[in-house]
Amino acid sequence: MLAIIVTMKAICPICDAPVTLSNDVEPSEVVTCKECSSRLVVESIDKQSVTLIQAPDIEEDWGE
Ligand SMILES: [Zn+2]
Repeated sequence: MLAIIVTMKAICPICDAPVTLSNDVEPSEVVTCKECSSRLVVESIDKQSVTLIQAPDIEEDWGE
C-alpha cells in the first residue's frame, strides 16, 4: 500500500517563494513565509492550490 501524503502548497505573494502548508490548513489561517518572514493569510483553498495574501499590518501600539 502506498501512502499518499497530500501537502498543500502555495506561493508567497511577497517573494514568490513556495510555502508549504499542512493539509488541514483552513481559510483565514495565518502563516509565516520562511523566506521573507511575511505574515500571510490563507485567502482560499482549492484542492491542492492555496491562495495566500499578505496579512494586514498589525498596529503594535495598542496600549495607550
Ligand atoms: Zn515570502
